[in-house]
Amino acid sequence: MTLAIDIGGTKIAAATVIDGVCHDRRQLPMPASEPEFLATLAALAQGRPAPALAAVAVTGYTDGERVRGVNRNTIAFWNDYPLVPRLRALLRCPVLALNDAQAAAWGEYGLRQAECSNLLYLTLSTGVGGGLVLDGELRRGAQGLAGHLGHMAVDVAPTDGPMVCGCGRRGCLETVASGTALARQATGRFGRVLGSAELFDRVAQGVPEAQDILWRAARAVASAVASAHAQLDLQQVVLGGSVGLAAGMRALVEAALAELPPLYRLPVDVARLGADAGLVGVAAWAVRQPLQGQA
Ligand SMILES: [Zn+2]
Repeated sequence: MTLAIDIGGTKIAAATVIDGVCHDRRQLPMPASEPEFLATLAALAQGRPAPALAAVAVTGYTDGERVRGVNRNTIAFWNDYPLVPRLRALLRCPVLALNDAQAAAWGEYGLRQAECSNLLYLTLSTGVGGGLVLDGELRRGAQGLAGHLGHMAVDVAPTDGPMVCGCGRRGCLETVASGTALARQATGRFGRVLGSAELFDRVAQGVPEAQDILWRAARAVASAVASAHAQLDLQQVVLGGSVGLAAGMRALVEAALAELPPLYRLPVDVARLGADAGLVGVAAWAVRQPLQGQA
C-alpha cells in the first residue's frame, strides 16, 4: 500500500491509498518551521500500517530529491530543501516526490483517458499551480517546473494594480487569481481582513466590488489558459484548489473564455477527485516509477 502525502502552502494532507481510493485521510496546518513540519509529518504517518512506498505531492518544484518554491513567500524553508532524504529517514521506506499540481493533473487524467490525452490542470489555491498531461504523458520538465501557469504573465491586472509576484516577475496570474491574491484585494476593497471564502459570500450577495475581484481572476485564468492552449494544443482544462472548486468559479472561467475568439474556448471541468486529486494522483504516478537507489 502507498502512503500519499500532499504538502501545500497552508496545509498537509495524508492518506493511505489503496486501488486509487483514499483511506484514513488526515489533514493538519502547514507549520512555518522545519522541526514542526517534520513533527507534523510524523503525526500524520503515525498509527498506519507500514507503507511499501511514500508518494509525496509538494508545492514548488522538485528534482525528485530537493524542493524549491517558485513563490519565495509560500514556505520559508522551501529553498533547495532536501525533502526526500528527510522523509526517507522519517518514514523508513522508499519516497518519491512530484509537484502537487502535476500530481493532481495525473490523477484527473486517469479519470479521463478515454476522452482526452492533452489536459491542463489548474489549481487556484494559496498560490496558482498547474500540471500538464501532453499526448498521454505527464510533463515534469528538466527540474520539475513544467506547468507552473501561475507564473505566466497575463493581460489582466488585479483591482489593486499590477504588482511584482513572489517569484520576482511582474504581472503573474498568481497575483490576480490565487486565494492569497483574492484575500489581498478583498482586504483592500473592504477595509478589513477578508478571506477568499468571505469574498465568495459577497459575490453571492451581488456586491459589485466583490464581483469585480472575482471576474478579474476569471479573466486572468482565461488569458493564461488561452496562451497555454496556443502553445500546447490542449483538449481540456480542469480546475482544482479551494478557489477553483468554489461554487461559480467554473462558470466564471467559462464566461471569460467565451469572450475570447472561438479557437481558445476550451472545455472547463472541475476536479472530479476534489481535494483528493493530489493524493490520488501522486500515488498513481509513484507506483509506475522505478525505485533504484532508494532505501
Ligand atoms: Zn510569479
